[in-house]
Amino acid sequence: MKVYKNYEEKYKLLKSGSLSLKENVQHFLNKIDKQKHLNAFNFVFEDSLEQAAKVEKKIKSGSAGKLAGMVIAVKDVLAVKDKPLTCSSNILKNFISIYTATAVQKLIDEDAIIIGKTNCDEFAMGSSNENSAFGPVKNPHDLQRVPGGSSGGSAAAVTSGLCDAALGTDTGGSIRQPAAFCGVYGLKPTYGRVSRYGLTAYASSFDSIGPFANNIEDIALILQVISGYDKKDSTSSTLAVENYSNLLEENPPNLKIGLPKEYFGKGLDLEINLTINNVVENLRGHGFSVSEISLPMTEYAIAAYYILTTAEASSNLARYDAVKYGYRSKQKGDLSDMYINSRSEAFGHEVKRRIMLGTYVLSAGYYDAYYGKAQKVRRLFKNDFDKAFQSVDIIITPTTPTTAFKIGEQTSDPLQMYLNDIYTTSANLAGIPGLNIPVGKDKKGLPIGMQLLANQFQETKLLQLAYYLQKSFFNR
Ligand code: GLN
Repeated sequence: MKVYKNYEEKYKLLKSGSLSLKENVQHFLNKIDKQKHLNAFNFVFEDSLEQAAKVEKKIKSGSAGKLAGMVIAVKDVLAVKDKPLTCSSNILKNFISIYTATAVQKLIDEDAIIIGKTNCDEFAMGSSNENSAFGPVKNPHDLQRVPGGSSGGSAAAVTSGLCDAALGTDTGGSIRQPAAFCGVYGLKPTYGRVSRYGLTAYASSFDSIGPFANNIEDIALILQVISGYDKKDSTSSTLAVENYSNLLEENPPNLKIGLPKEYFGKGLDLEINLTINNVVENLRGHGFSVSEISLPMTEYAIAAYYILTTAEASSNLARYDAVKYGYRSKQKGDLSDMYINSRSEAFGHEVKRRIMLGTYVLSAGYYDAYYGKAQKVRRLFKNDFDKAFQSVDIIITPTTPTTAFKIGEQTSDPLQMYLNDIYTTSANLAGIPGLNIPVGKDKKGLPIGMQLLANQFQETKLLQLAYYLQKSFFNR
């Protein structure tokens, strides 16, 4: 199999005939089978070979789309018509989707090949991919460790070369954190940049769909394809989509960088801190202006995030009532028993915990004290970032406080697990874009991720800086 650095190179090989798309897809299918122990896929689409044949013809005839032959896996919370959509939950075990998510449809329309659905935490709730009805995903860099979550399958698949790229979703870090743990690029776009139509809702005012890839060029290209207004999602933005790929080359980006002091304090792994400092010093050496900034709300991120998202989740997950679709308990009883038994039997522990938390914070007696208060706090996060982005273009932080932890290590302590999201949730509270870029490995050989944040709809700046880093420092 010919190796290629990014999609542009792959396309040249396909176009010249020195790479056969059918062989390429077959290679991925074989590799997925060989790496079954990773448990990265919930479903593999054998009909991707037929797709490959069709796209190959289009490439020959010169009528192929922007992503012709790019092989992409999608997280199993995204709808693909006539394919299973389980959200890694027993409650949707036998559910087959009747339509395709807009983001996935846009990939298909540009002749990408969808190779399967990736494993994830149940309904995207988790930071380790251990909350899946399909079992945990293993981190390809160390099989004893988690790949991160909730889009753990997508990150594991991309880092081990089971596909060219993948889609994930990010409500509080679920693209960036697994990208960091697996050593790949992962972008959470601005809220509203990508249509959520066909994404199974977890916390609707936080959820974003974004790409994983091994290089920044492919991230830019996929973002360009999946972005844009969609009349089926009223929260999608009408703002014009930039030509991210063309803008990458604008070099060197004259960007001002801010380092928030709250992100480099207690709790941050020393090796991660040193690695990121090293990159920042390099940037300074290349003439970038770097200054310390403050995001004082940071310490409230986890509390605000888990109040608001559980509230939204408890409401969104009320639809799984066993009436029209999904799992239904076999126990006898009245209508109310049917609801209770079905939901009790089919939802996993973490999902139940969040439904209960969410119901509590929304209950009449506590609404003002928790939900109402957290909504106000959310606004303050936006204010924090607005202020910071008056003086800097990009904020650099660690993506995670530690590198990948061991499977089972944090499952008994939910609060400890939630603290993994300490650096990622603020971006979702404020609706801004965030990108994980792989910047090195620790002594154990585990990937270290660095997070770039920009103001709303400033994805171009993130991509430009990441491209610059990729070329100048990491020789990729
Ligand atoms: N780990 C976070 C949570 O459990 C983020 C999940 C996500 O972004 N989907 O909610």
